[in-house]
Amino acid sequence: MARVKRTLGPRGQRVRRDGCGGARGGVPSTRCIGGDPAPPYALRPLLMPSHDLLAVPESRAFPLRRVLQRLLAARRVVLVTHVGADGDGSGSQAALAAWLESRGIEAAIVNPTPFPDLFRFCLHRQDVVAEMGTPEGEAALADADLFVVLDTSEPPRVGAMAERLPPERTLVVDHHPAGTEVVGDTAVQDPSAGATGEMVYDLITLAGDAVPHASALGAYVAIVSDTGSFRYSNTTPRIHAVAAELLGRGIDPEVVYRRMFATAPLRRLELLREALATLRTDPEARIAWMTVRADTATRLGATGEDFDGLIEHVRSIEGTEVAMLFRETGEGDTKVSFRSNGAADVNRLARRFGGGGHVKAAGALIPGGIDEVAPPVLAAARNAG
Ligand code: AMP
Ligand code: MN
Ligand code: MN
Repeated sequence: MARVKRTLGPRGQRVRRDGCGGARGGVPSTRCIGGDPAPPYALRPLLMPSHDLLAVPESRAFPLRRVLQRLLAARRVVLVTHVGADGDGSGSQAALAAWLESRGIEAAIVNPTPFPDLFRFCLHRQDVVAEMGTPEGEAALADADLFVVLDTSEPPRVGAMAERLPPERTLVVDHHPAGTEVVGDTAVQDPSAGATGEMVYDLITLAGDAVPHASALGAYVAIVSDTGSFRYSNTTPRIHAVAAELLGRGIDPEVVYRRMFATAPLRRLELLREALATLRTDPEARIAWMTVRADTATRLGATGEDFDGLIEHVRSIEGTEVAMLFRETGEGDTKVSFRSNGAADVNRLARRFGGGGHVKAAGALIPGGIDEVAPPVLAAARNAG
């Protein structure tokens, strides 16, 4: 098992969460993990020209350099993201894979669940994805000398991959708040980054390299995806500056927009129609939710990525503090997505049910069907809202 306690590995080895490792003893580890609180963003554009915005904050650069050092010493690297890969996970993988190969380091993307068709346009070569359980995937896992987990750090979030990751050869690059367990022995976890893709951009620039075109595309898709197209509260002046650099590498924002948002299979709209028919609100508790049962998803042939963004319709209802989407996976569990519009901390809410995420966007995979799962979750949300 690759499950590693916060400070001790399975064989009692010390786990470095931040890469500081005492090499520069004066740097407190909390700075390496999270970074200092940013100055008020309203002031920063006045104080900082955009090239300064692009400087990698030292608290992030320090542990990223250690990741870089280990990457550059590797020959075959497997890149992993969380179950139900989203645009940040997939785009970050695509970006890192293209850059590694530009450096002559072989890369393979192996995930616990299939790489989404929606994000295949980011890949610099289609066969860089090797699905787990296929001969290619198994060969990539067997041959790898290093593993990088992107956009999560927690064993349950990488599903069946958790037991395939040797902690001493696994690095983590993630922007989620640290959970209780971490899959690798060197983890850069920086919630001040708006997307993991922003950190992958930082890694490439710390290497002193120009960002290859395919890496720019992946990083841009990652950023657009996790900032809700530069609308959520993780949209910072810096992430805009990074996006501007990426556009400067020849990325066409309209092409990306069309691929990501303006083209959808018919079933995705049918799913929206059926989900909206289940919409419920509790105006007093300021919560709203939708449900999608397994038979509906099966009938429509809906894939995981078809659900991305569905919850934003619930979140948009005036007066809603906490929005939820309950979706039966067809394997006996219910995936609950949570979104907050302000005060409520849905990361905390999701953690009560074994999940996690960010303050304003979180999720949990809960055993049982909707009829079992929804009542206790709704009760907890009524108190959180
Ligand atoms: P989603 O609702 O799937 O779009 O996820 C929103 C946020 O919650 C993302 O940051 C995810 O990484 C996180 N998240 C989703 N599902 C889980 C889970 N089962 N456990 C922990 N975090 C999750
Ligand atoms: Mn993600
Ligand atoms: Mn992310």
